[in-house]
Amino acid sequence: MRDLSMFNAEMEALSPADQDRVERERLPRQLEHVFARSRMVRDKLSAAGLDPDPSRFGDPDRLAELPFITKTDLRASQEREPPFGDFLAVSPEAVQRVHRTSGTTGRFVYTALTRNDLAVTHDCGARAFWSAGLRPHHRVIHCLNYCLWMGGYTDHANLENTGATVFPYGVGNSRQLVRVIREAGIDTISSTPSYPNVLEGVVREELDIEPRDLGLRLGLFGGEPGLDDPNVRQRIEATWGLTVRNANYGVSDLLCNFAAQCEENPDLHFLGQGALLARLIEPHEEGDVPVREGAVGEMVLTHLQKEAQPLVRYRTSDILEITGTGPCRCGRTGFRFRVVGRSDDMLHVRGINVFPGGIARVLEPLLPEVTGEFQIVVNHPSPYTQLDVAVEQGPAAAPEDAAALARRVEAGVKDALGITVRVDLVPAGSIQRTDTGKVRRVLKTY
Ligand SMILES: [Zn+2]
Repeated sequence: MRDLSMFNAEMEALSPADQDRVERERLPRQLEHVFARSRMVRDKLSAAGLDPDPSRFGDPDRLAELPFITKTDLRASQEREPPFGDFLAVSPEAVQRVHRTSGTTGRFVYTALTRNDLAVTHDCGARAFWSAGLRPHHRVIHCLNYCLWMGGYTDHANLENTGATVFPYGVGNSRQLVRVIREAGIDTISSTPSYPNVLEGVVREELDIEPRDLGLRLGLFGGEPGLDDPNVRQRIEATWGLTVRNANYGVSDLLCNFAAQCEENPDLHFLGQGALLARLIEPHEEGDVPVREGAVGEMVLTHLQKEAQPLVRYRTSDILEITGTGPCRCGRTGFRFRVVGRSDDMLHVRGINVFPGGIARVLEPLLPEVTGEFQIVVNHPSPYTQLDVAVEQGPAAAPEDAAALARRVEAGVKDALGITVRVDLVPAGSIQRTDTGKVRRVLKTY
């Protein structure tokens, strides 16, 4: 009988020995495909003076000898050969679905998937949503952007693959959204963790009821950080009467969604077994860091069965802290982790590694005196002796309190992170947003 605690127990509960066996089986075949068909990878190997010999690098322990691939490589490849780049390793006719992935800087990258790539994507995505508690009896409304973004249509298909009933909504028109949720008896929402805050007022105005009476019982969140903060979780749970789950972590250039929390443990579980080989590196020295409890490093991923745009030793820029290995109480064996920051955002201040997320956690208890939005402005590369931070004042801050509020933020950062910051309070909404509505946390003016 099927194990209903997991979507794909065969992969999600692999023993370390079996996972190693799967990786050793799949990696040489993957490298054979990559070395034969990806001009970008062949050129990188030849620039490094290496032979494209799959039998040599097919041992996972020798992968570290290969050069890294970065987002910059993907952009350059697609400029050379638009639209899919010279790392497209299949004929263009074999491509079935295309998304566009962003960076906060630079041009977009087109991500192409074949029929088999889609099957792998939807399997891993369903593992993640299932791990977060989604089941076939749920009715889920999906509120991420469908316009070319992977989180829209492909996560929709991931949700469907669990057997749940899925309503495709997208973003915007929140008045209609709350009416549909009530009329159709929807009990689950899939969105960014900040979206419920937007909906709160709409529910009260449009339906004249409290958010918790709308009927939502499960929240599947992803697409932006925030859920590591217990205050954020508790606030959403208290307002909406729903269970908050971190359900959707992915790296669009590689795999849409391959990590989620379970019902026992709030940390993300790696669920890309069989599709991705995950390693950690020290982001400056670039040496491998063993994946064990307490380790911190940048995640580097290698595809194990990708057809269209296979990547090897891809630097994700995400810095992870490994919070557990071995089996979780839920039975899944993938390592557990938190994303502590982006390698491009890591700042060295008097010998301390600082991520913007640390400052976000200091601001959280000060809401609504601050909006929670802030930006670190630097005019030279690391290291720093102190940081300048622009912090947006919130609706509850009286102008005459501004100086005192700034000092409280400075003291809070000193206390929590051990570094000195100089805070400049600015009006709400005045820090520039990117085209996806986010604030760039570190602004480099040099
Ligand atoms: Zn678990």
